[in-house]
Amino acid sequence: MKQFRHSWALAALLLGTTQLQAEVPLKVVRGARDTVFTQKHYIVGLTEAGCTAKVNGEEAKVYKTGAFAAQVMLKEGANQVEVSVAKGAETNTQTLNIFYTSTRPEKKFTLKEAQQELEKTTFKPCNLFAISKPGAYLQYGDGSDRLGGSKMNYVDEGIVFKVVGEIGRLYKVQLAENRWAYMPKNALEVTDKETKCINTGSWSVTNTGKTDRVSISLTERLPYYTWTQLDPTTICVELYGAMNNSNWISQKRGLKMIEYVDFRQLEGDVLQVIIKLQKQHAWGYSVSYQGTNLVIEVKHTPALTLKGMVIGLDAGHGGPYDGAVGNSGLKEKDVNLSLVKEFQALLEAKGATVVLSRDGDYNVDMVDRKAIFKEKNIDLMVSIHNNSGGSPLNLMGTSTYYKQIVNRDLAETMLNRLLELGLKDFGLVGNFNFTMNAPTEYPNVLLEVLFMSSLPEEEMLADEAFRKKVAKQALLGLEDYLKKVKAAERK
Ligand SMILES: [Zn+2]
Repeated sequence: MKQFRHSWALAALLLGTTQLQAEVPLKVVRGARDTVFTQKHYIVGLTEAGCTAKVNGEEAKVYKTGAFAAQVMLKEGANQVEVSVAKGAETNTQTLNIFYTSTRPEKKFTLKEAQQELEKTTFKPCNLFAISKPGAYLQYGDGSDRLGGSKMNYVDEGIVFKVVGEIGRLYKVQLAENRWAYMPKNALEVTDKETKCINTGSWSVTNTGKTDRVSISLTERLPYYTWTQLDPTTICVELYGAMNNSNWISQKRGLKMIEYVDFRQLEGDVLQVIIKLQKQHAWGYSVSYQGTNLVIEVKHTPALTLKGMVIGLDAGHGGPYDGAVGNSGLKEKDVNLSLVKEFQALLEAKGATVVLSRDGDYNVDMVDRKAIFKEKNIDLMVSIHNNSGGSPLNLMGTSTYYKQIVNRDLAETMLNRLLELGLKDFGLVGNFNFTMNAPTEYPNVLLEVLFMSSLPEEEMLADEAFRKKVAKQALLGLEDYLKKVKAAERK
């Protein structure tokens, strides 16, 4: 590269400076399209901070990132949009030719594409048994969006399911006489074993030191669905193919989290395990099998100070996955990591141990991220992302997300502190189907700090001082949550 620059310098000397004066930089990063089907059209350009910009003669604000935007209303047919930037007397102009028509051409499928589409959306009955692999999960229906189908919960490996049909990449499994769910085909392996309806054995409830453990003796690994309830805080596990024959529910003294356990035989082959907690704030639980015994571990509340706590921080995306890219080229993966590092420094200064799912620019897949946190037995996890969508001209706002209802309070507490920065409220989002919100083992929350696609918000995210402020608010949010939990414990 050095050689190259030298030759330019030499050329400059030979040609004289006037011909080499660089033009005011201008790149149209959004909106330069031949044909569009909506009348309201956004143009986003990129120049340098300190330049002025105009779109069709109208001034557009140039942000510190160099990005500017305008909304133009197109007329039916051919349109010319003039984008110009200026620095002193120097200008640079680009004219965009955009054809607007309100009638969208019909998408034509080839016969093969139509067949493939039909294949993906047609339910075909089948009759076989399959056994769950590591990472298997149940989903409520056969629907999907960018986050996949709506998940019920992950299930342990080695459970036999009755498969009654298939649709696209999913199997429909029959859990009980009147219960169904869907599972990804790649999470199951066809087996010659069959599902059985069995009698349950005795239960034991003990304090293991770090958890309260409920163990239910069974003779087969049965499918289960688990969720939590509030007021009172209760963990529920529905077992399919189970008939109650547990006439010993042995509950030892000295339990820290569990008040009592109970059950309901909801249907002939559906047994609901009920674990009522002593405390309003649960600190995570796991459901798995040890041999064929169902084991539910309910984690004890850690010391409620950041000092000594193990906090998992998850910076979204990384490596080849940029996440959302702002109009100036700012990448979400870099912003996420920077926020995580700022947050890490604050947490460590308070004496917390921080576990990162990634600490550099590389990708870690979701399964591995969860495994990192599970292995380190973290007490709480915060995932940090930034959003995208909506108008580039507007402030969009900040938002926090949870899946399990027990994490709603945490998500709301964090949101309240982020809003103190004067950010717009994009909302508190529940039942969020994001993989990092799925674990039940520890409280967790996702922060979508701001929108990369919004010019004013991208400008904020690009500013290190702002990122430090966000980290500070996140810290205050966590401290608030711990205080809340403490106050509730005293009651
Ligand atoms: Zn993201």
